[in-house]
Amino acid sequence: MQIEVTNVRNRDRKTLLERSALFFARQLKIADRYGILVIKSVPGLLKNERTAARMDMFAPFVYVIEIDSRITGENLLETVAHEMVHVKQRALGQARHEIRGGRVVRFWMGKKVDPKTHYYDLPWEVEAYTKQRILVNSLLKTVGMFNDV
Ligand SMILES: [Zn+2]
Repeated sequence: MQIEVTNVRNRDRKTLLERSALFFARQLKIADRYGILVIKSVPGLLKNERTAARMDMFAPFVYVIEIDSRITGENLLETVAHEMVHVKQRALGQARHEIRGGRVVRFWMGKKVDPKTHYYDLPWEVEAYTKQRILVNSLLKTVGMFNDV
């Protein structure tokens, strides 16, 4: 998976985004998958869309993560990790959706998901929230910034 970070002027932030996304892609075993991942920094995303980040596919094999430009530190790492779990879910076909009769029907592991499901109970969110901290911990451990076991 080719990773490109766009709309980020600060070199350190750009490098952090590139390297953390690559690390998480390796952990999630999708680094060698065919595709392009664009990580875009978006000013005002949180304020305007009420979300710190989001992931979508704009074509087959084209994954786009948008992240609010003001998210920083470990919060930023957790956000990248969370969205990378969603990239993994889409890349492996674990989460997908179809348009049927003008409506979006969402599937998880091949099974239809009740559209009334609460956000935090959506299976892809449960997985992303569960794994984001684990992924960040293993990143911090790797770079020697995390001493807890
Ligand atoms: Zn999510």
